[in-house]
Amino acid sequence: MGIDVLARGSDGYEANRGAFNVLLSQDPARIVTPRDARDVADAIAYAKAEGLRIGAQRTGHSAEPLGDLSDTLLLRTAAMSGVSIDADRRIARVGSGALWGDLVPQASDMGFAAAHGSSPTVGIVGYSLGGGVGWYGRKHGLQCNLVTAIELVDAAGNERRVDADNDPELFWAMRGSAGDFGIVTALEFELLPVHEVFAGALFFPVERMSEVFGAWHAFTAAAPDEITSLARIMNFPPIPEIPEPMRGKSFAIIEAVALLGEAEATEVLAPLRDLGPAMDSFAVQPPAGISGLHMDPPEPAPYAAYGMLLNELPGEALDAFVGAVGPDSGTHLLSVEIRHDGGAMARSGPGNGAMDCLPGEFLMFGVNVVPDPSAMAPTKAWLGAMEDAMKPWDAGRYLNFSDESEDIAVAYPPATVERLRAAKSKYDSENFFHAAHPVVSG
Ligand SMILES: Cc1cc2nc3c(=O)[nH]c(=O)nc-3n(C[C@H](O)[C@H](O)[C@H](O)COP(=O)(O)OP(=O)(O)OC[C@H]3O[C@@H](n4cnc5c(N)ncnc54)[C@H](O)[C@@H]3O)c2cc1C
Repeated sequence: MGIDVLARGSDGYEANRGAFNVLLSQDPARIVTPRDARDVADAIAYAKAEGLRIGAQRTGHSAEPLGDLSDTLLLRTAAMSGVSIDADRRIARVGSGALWGDLVPQASDMGFAAAHGSSPTVGIVGYSLGGGVGWYGRKHGLQCNLVTAIELVDAAGNERRVDADNDPELFWAMRGSAGDFGIVTALEFELLPVHEVFAGALFFPVERMSEVFGAWHAFTAAAPDEITSLARIMNFPPIPEIPEPMRGKSFAIIEAVALLGEAEATEVLAPLRDLGPAMDSFAVQPPAGISGLHMDPPEPAPYAAYGMLLNELPGEALDAFVGAVGPDSGTHLLSVEIRHDGGAMARSGPGNGAMDCLPGEFLMFGVNVVPDPSAMAPTKAWLGAMEDAMKPWDAGRYLNFSDESEDIAVAYPPATVERLRAAKSKYDSENFFHAAHPVVSG
């Protein structure tokens, strides 16, 4: 047994038990920090011998749905963070500890983009296993369906490589089911042939929310798959970390990434840019340039969040959303957003994984910072108001955006749930793996 096992009370245990949401206190039975697949196999053997379950984690972004870890060996993957790019095949290979920020600049320098989401500090493996809704999604689909091979250690401790030809059922199950079938040690996936994008954000006074969201919604109805966009409200806190033009102010914001040349993108985006924003940051840039576009917090923070897929967004839905979280609603969440999904993210594909496509056209997400316990009750009430207002258009959950422990039936069609549960009994009949969103609840 070559791996160090960290027990409660040790410095290593304290240094490795943190979650991205600092309101959570993770208390696993033990912790390991493997350097390679052999260490992972050792950790699995240790967990089995001790009667523990095992769960992998990189950033702890999805720590909340994991729940109680008192019977779990927590495997933190930060030390396995290598990335390499095969430019001829346009394939990236990443270790299970790699973050998007470890890959995207390198890929960008080589003339490629990766199907990443809004934050460079998200773990590539967790994001990819959970689906992966990113800035190129409407054109290129969910990241899980760009995965070409997965290396893992299975429940029996065997190192395996699965792909479309080698155990295609396990390969299918792992792409979109949040890691409930094994500990991934490396992932390979397609990069996108994109050397520059036309991207940016438009900032409007929040009082114009209704008009701006209405114009954005009309825009999405005709938008080509080459444009992925979202509309949001941000109530920037009055803290020094926030740049002066935004500090302490509230905005209605449209963000978009266009895979079009500047002239065509300018023409397509004109109805939005002509609305007269207070700030317009659209510009041609390399793929790495959009890493900060969404202004996600890079460091762990105290927060609460809620997400829901929306099947459509008619005028009454927009009115309900503005009424629930808009400037006159009495709510004050840090950020509420509606992402335009659809396009390739909504289309089935023959070789796709368990998250074949997303239902609905839109994805709603709200989050608030909870700096002290007294801020939790209003935050929950505001997120609840948003949820209640949008229930008539509820299309289910996208589990990467769910901090709750939910039955996977809220996220996948019944046939997929059945197939995933059959795969779970075949590959992990003892429910040894402890994933953020388990295939079998309870
Ligand atoms: C600021 C922020 C921005 C985000 N933006 C987006 C976005 O734009 N689009 C989007 O789709 N999602 C987004 N997410 C959600 C994110 O994709 C999920 O939280 C995802 O689970 C994060 O993966 P992680 O490895 O960083 O998190 P972790 O909490 O470390 O891992 C999450 C889960 O992934 C599984 N897992 C991780 N590593 C392994 C492994 N080696 N083997 C097996 N299973 C593993 C486990 O089930 C684990 O519980 C965002 C989250 C945050 C906090």
